[in-house]
Amino acid sequence: MLPIRIGIGHDTHRLTEGVAMLLGGVRIPCEFSLAGHSDADVLLHAVTDALLGAASLGDIGELYPDTVPENKERDSAEILTEVYRLVRKSGWIIVNLDCIIFAQNPKFGHHKLDIKLRIAEILDLASEQVNIKAKTGEKVGHIGRCEAVAAQCVALLTHPTEFRPRLLEMIAQADVAKSGDLP
Ligand SMILES: [Zn+2]
Repeated sequence: MLPIRIGIGHDTHRLTEGVAMLLGGVRIPCEFSLAGHSDADVLLHAVTDALLGAASLGDIGELYPDTVPENKERDSAEILTEVYRLVRKSGWIIVNLDCIIFAQNPKFGHHKLDIKLRIAEILDLASEQVNIKAKTGEKVGHIGRCEAVAAQCVALLTHPTEFRPRLLEMIAQADVAKSGDLP
């Protein structure tokens, strides 16, 4: 089996009146803000959970509980950096991230590039390793009624020191099978 792992992250934060929100590490000026114990960066929380999931390291609530005072208004970019350090310590690195932001208002379409570049910067990735999509709530449900913003992320990880030998092993096995030596 090739050493690759997939993880999924999902998060929702309540929208309140405000002047700006942090999303994907980018400050978006708007008439809302996001409520939460930390800085409420719903997208970075989803990315963090996707990485933890793929590396089988638990979830953001276990590592950074909202009952701990130090986590109040904590910078989510700092949390994500720490988590990726943990993930790399266990031998895994990111292949790519695919993210979706769900928001009726504000609209994130024209912020997608800034968010993509910021997440790539936080994780020291090439920009093409990160993809950002933005969807509205079609004016229904908690997203559509502008009560919340949600985000999802899928992360693919690989184990670089194990990938090449495993791949060569699989190619060799396939060659043996092709030559008819297998029973
Ligand atoms: Zn969150």
